[in-house]
Order: sequence, then C-alpha cells, then structure tokens
Amino acid sequence: MKKQVKDLEKVLDKTNGKEKFKILTQLSEVYEKISINKSIEYALDSLELLHNVKGNPKKAEVYIRLGDLYKAVNEYDKALTYYQTGLELSKSVRNDKKRSEFLNSIGEVSFRLTNYDQALEFYLKSLKIREEIHDKKGISDSLNTVGNVYFQLKNYNKALDYYQQSLKIRLELKDEIAIAKSYNNIGNMYSILKDYQKSLDYYNDALKLYLEGGEKKLVSSVYNNIGIIYRETGDHKHALESFKKSLQIAKEQDLLYNIANTSNELARTYFEAKKFKEAEEHLNTALRQARILSARNVEQESYQIFSELYFEKEDFKKAYSYYKQFADLKDSIYGELSGKIAEIQSRYIAEQKEKEAEIYRLKNVEMAKYIKDLQKANDIIKKKNRELTEAYLKLDLLARTDPLTRLSNRRDILDKIKYEALKFERSGEKFVLVISDIDNFKTFNDSYGHDCGDFVLVNLANLMRSVLRKQDCIGRWGGEEFIFLMPKTDLEGGSMVAEKIRKKIENETFYYRDIKLNITMTFGVNVYDALMDIDYCINKADEALYQGKSKGKNCVVRSDEID
Ligand code: GH3
Ligand code: MG
Ligand code: MG
Repeated sequence: MKKQVKDLEKVLDKTNGKEKFKILTQLSEVYEKISINKSIEYALDSLELLHNVKGNPKKAEVYIRLGDLYKAVNEYDKALTYYQTGLELSKSVRNDKKRSEFLNSIGEVSFRLTNYDQALEFYLKSLKIREEIHDKKGISDSLNTVGNVYFQLKNYNKALDYYQQSLKIRLELKDEIAIAKSYNNIGNMYSILKDYQKSLDYYNDALKLYLEGGEKKLVSSVYNNIGIIYRETGDHKHALESFKKSLQIAKEQDLLYNIANTSNELARTYFEAKKFKEAEEHLNTALRQARILSARNVEQESYQIFSELYFEKEDFKKAYSYYKQFADLKDSIYGELSGKIAEIQSRYIAEQKEKEAEIYRLKNVEMAKYIKDLQKANDIIKKKNRELTEAYLKLDLLARTDPLTRLSNRRDILDKIKYEALKFERSGEKFVLVISDIDNFKTFNDSYGHDCGDFVLVNLANLMRSVLRKQDCIGRWGGEEFIFLMPKTDLEGGSMVAEKIRKKIENETFYYRDIKLNITMTFGVNVYDALMDIDYCINKADEALYQGKSKGKNCVVRSDEID
C-alpha cells in the first residue's frame, strides 16, 4: 500500500489535466483506509482541477465523495454542504441505486444535525427510489430511518409503525442482526408508550439474536434497556441484575459510552432503592467516563441524579451545586443546538403560516357557505316577518273591524276620535261627530227575521260609506247605531253631509228576497270646536239624535238645536 501511494505521489508532479485528476482520485481512494483527512485533501485537490468545468458529472461525484468523507469524520455541517452541491450537479443523473444511497446519506447527515424535517424529506426520497427498484434491504433500512425520525419528533406511534414495517421485510430477508435492531427499536417504542410487557418481549427477542450473533456491544445496550423496564415497573432486583450484566460486558469490551450510561442507570436504581452510597459510586464512574468521552448528555444526567440524591439527603448546598452544573451544561448544549433549532423553527413557522393561510382560506370558504346559509335563513326570517306583520295587520284590522258591516268598530272609531281631539289641541282643527240610528229597525227583525236585520245593516253601511267623503270615517257604534267622524268640518258642513246621507237612504230602494224595504235613519250632529270631554261631545250628538227620534225620526238634528 505504502509503495502504491509513493509511486502515485511521484508521478503526480509530472502530470496535469485529466491524468492528474485520475491520480488525485486514486490517491484519495487509497488514503480513505489510512487517513481520512489525507483522503479529503486529495479529493479537494481533484476538485480544484475541475474548477472551470461546468456540468461535469465527475464534479458531482467528487462533491458527493467529499460529503461521504466529511460524514465519516463526523463533520456533518461540511458533509451537508458538499452533498447539497453534489445534489445540484447530479440532478439529471439517475443511477438509481447510487442515488438512493446518496439521498439516504443526506438524510443521515440532516438527522445528525437534528434537522429532522430535512432528514425525513431525504429518507423518504431514498425510500421512494428503493421501492421503485425493489431494493428490499434498502427499503427496510429506509423504513427504519424514517422510524428514527418520528422517534426524534416524539411521534411514537408513527415511529412504531415504521419500525414494524421495516421488521416485516427484515424477517423476509432473514438478516438476523437487522431483525434484532428492529426488535430493539420496537421495544424502545413500547417502553416509551408504557406497554412494558410488550417492550420486554421485544428486548428479549433482540437479546437472543444479538447473543447468537456475538454482538457484544448491542447485547450490553439491550441489557441496559431491559434494566430500565424492570426499574420502571418497580422490580429493582431484576433491574440491577440487567444493568450489572450490561456493565460487565461494557467493561470487558471497553465500551466507554455504555459504561458511563449504564453506571448512571445503576445509580438511579440504587438511588430509588435509597442505597445512596452505591448510587454515588456509580455516579462517579459515570461522570469520569462521560468526561473522557465528552458525552455531555451522560454527564448532564449524572449531575441531575447527584442533585436529586443530595436533595434527598437534605444536603441542599450540594444539591444546588449539582443542579447548577446540570442546568449550565443543559444550557450550553441547548445553546449550540438552539441555532439549528431556530432555523428549523423559522422554517416550521413559515410552513405553519402557509397552513394557517390555508385554514384561513378554508374558513373563508366555510364562512361564505355559512353566510349563504345565513342569507337563506335571513330571507326566510324576512319572509316570516313579512307574513307575521301581515298577519298582525290583519289581526289588528280584525280587532278594529265590525265583522258584519266591515266598518270600524267602536274601539277603532273611538281611537280615531281621540286622535282628532289631540289634533284639535295642537292646531284647533274642529271636527264633527254624527250619531245615526236606523228607524224602527226592530220591525225588520220581527217581520222578516234576523237575517233581514243583518241585510239592512250591511246595505246601509255600504251606502253610507259610498256617500261619505274620503277624509271621513264611519263606525258601527252599537246594534243599529252608527257614528261618523268628519275632520276639518264645522257644524254646518257636518249637518249638510248628514242630510245628504239621510236623503240618499230615504230615496234608495232595498230589496230583501223580493221584499221592498223602506229604510230611514235619524241623525244627531255635534261639533268638537272647543276643549271638551270626548264622551260629553258624543253624548251631545246622542241627545240630538233622540231629539230627532222624538220629533218623528228620518231627520237631522244639530246639537245647537237641542232644547
Ligand atoms: P227606533 O226607531 O226608536 O230606533 O226603534 P228601533 O226598533 O230601531 O229601536 P230598538 O232599540 O227598540 O231596537 C233595536 C233592535 O236592533 C233591537 C236588537 O235586537 C236589534 N239589533 C241590534 N243589533 C243587531 C244586529 O246586529 N242584527 C240584527 N238583525 N238586529 C240587531
Ligand atoms: Mg233604532
Ligand atoms: Mg237604537
């Protein structure tokens, strides 16, 4: 290998153009297994040569390769930048298998950068291609990664669903370790969803396969997971057993992260069992390892348990001190993440706004529908109101009308008189009241029956109405008595109208069932030309009427003629 590198480096200086690019690419590839940083250097050099080349598919390849290399050394920001340029340049390229892997890599990097929306987007793009080319292993892996995103997004039911879909395919493929990983992931979901029995079942299935496959690291992790389930269900004895197994393997295999993490879990379990001394010992181990590893989430957890522990021991000063370390660390982790989170959030807010706009639009559509309904309802109400008003007017009219003659009844004509009296008070407009009574009315009833009497009443009412002026009113005052109201009229004028009516009746011939009826009426006239009681005014007209009756009927008598 070393010779190969030396040979290549020797010719490098003597070549240029395409040849140089080829050698740089080879060097980068050879170095990939020796020193990734060197590999990156050569890849960057090769990229330099393509500087002036436009749209070269080779250029896209180099960018993607650089993305892969940076990803391998956990420089996810840089990886993402190179991937994104590679993505731009390779838009037309469609080597499906390669492309699905590339998209998956972008998903992975985004996931590492906690940009879960973007991770989901690229994982799903990769999944789509893998489905198109029936890449079963790829599909199962994609489904698993999508599950991981939903897990991070705390959508555990959806995560569970994807993990299970992934498991189904992995079972078909009989890839034991992949199956075990799915079991473990599903166990995690059931654990969070507090279905502890199911969780334990899946963890045990995973454990079995890991043990068979000799996957020590994973065995250690699953024992840790199982321990958590036991502790959650209050079974401290089994929890300690599992954690101890996990820790033992971790120590044997020098798995520093597992040592730190499981030590924390052991500490928490001892703490819950009020065994403070053991708890402290494990916390110290956890802290030591976490610091070596710069595993700040584990370190933070240790501080938290320490703080709770000292609080329980009522050593509040120490409890506070640990709490402060916990909080500071949490803040600094959050501070670093917050930039990225802010970016994601701003995008999320933008999407949210779009959604709101859509909701608003829908609301408007709904509202329009609602308004239409409302208008319909309004129209109905309006119509009902109109009908009601009409009905009311009809009722009112009925209430003011004499049913037989269709003239104003006593109440209605009295209201009208009151109104004229008020008008007189304001403007001094006098008016005339005439009371009239059918002469010998009783005889019509007695000779030809009640219907004949009604016939006379109706016909006289019609006749009188036809003779009266437009501004005058007529009402049925009682049995066969009528009253006229003549606004803006004096005694002279009123008497003349009464006389006109009297004559008209006298000269009219009425036939009731071929029987010729001779009908006459007597009239009493009074004027309202000074402030007075309405009853008094009517009584005076009445008096005049009776004077007429006693004088021999079929005549008009004025109030100023009363003796
Ligand atoms: P006078 O010339 O003195 O007025 O005599 P008259 O018969 O007209 O007066 P009287 O008061 O003696 O009789 C009135 C009658 O009118 C008595 C009553 O039965 C009758 N009457 C009252 N209202 C109605 C009605 O609505 N229909 C009919 N058919 N008769 C009525
Ligand atoms: Mg009469
Ligand atoms: Mg009478």
